[in-house]
Amino acid sequence: MELKCFVCGTTDKTRVFFDCYHEGEKKMTCVRCLPSLIHGQH
Ligand SMILES: [Zn+2]
Repeated sequence: MELKCFVCGTTDKTRVFFDCYHEGEKKMTCVRCLPSLIHGQH
Protein backbone atom coordinates (compact mmCIF):
# COMPACT_ATOMS: atom_id res chain seq x y z
CA MET A 1 0.00 0.00 0.00
CA GLU A 2 1.35 3.39 -0.95
CA LEU A 3 1.73 5.90 1.83
CA LYS A 4 0.60 9.27 0.60
CA CYS A 5 -0.46 12.25 2.63
CA PHE A 6 -3.76 13.64 1.31
CA VAL A 7 -2.87 17.12 2.59
CA CYS A 8 0.62 17.76 1.24
CA GLY A 9 0.90 14.76 -1.07
CA THR A 10 4.20 13.52 0.30
CA THR A 11 5.13 9.89 -0.12
CA ASP A 12 8.19 10.18 2.07
CA LYS A 13 8.49 6.79 3.74
CA THR A 14 10.79 8.13 6.44
CA ARG A 15 7.90 10.21 7.74
CA VAL A 16 5.28 8.89 10.15
CA PHE A 17 1.80 8.44 8.68
CA PHE A 18 -1.60 8.18 10.32
CA ASP A 19 -4.86 6.69 9.15
CA CYS A 20 -7.70 9.16 9.33
CA TYR A 21 -11.14 9.79 7.90
CA HIS A 22 -11.94 12.86 5.86
CA GLU A 23 -15.34 13.54 4.29
CA GLY A 24 -16.30 9.92 4.92
CA GLU A 25 -13.25 8.47 3.22
CA LYS A 26 -10.32 6.74 4.81
CA LYS A 27 -7.16 8.65 4.05
CA MET A 28 -3.64 9.00 5.29
CA THR A 29 -1.89 12.03 6.61
CA CYS A 30 1.73 12.57 7.59
CA VAL A 31 2.79 13.71 11.02
CA ARG A 32 3.67 17.13 9.68
CA CYS A 33 0.13 17.85 8.54
CA LEU A 34 -1.62 16.29 11.52
CA PRO A 35 -1.38 19.35 13.83
CA SER A 36 -3.10 21.59 11.29
CA LEU A 37 -5.90 19.04 10.95
CA ILE A 38 -6.32 18.88 14.71
CA HIS A 39 -6.49 22.65 14.99
CA GLY A 40 -8.76 23.01 11.98
CA GLN A 41 -6.47 25.24 9.97
CA HIS A 42 -7.42 23.89 6.62
ZN1 LIG B 1 1.40 15.89 4.84
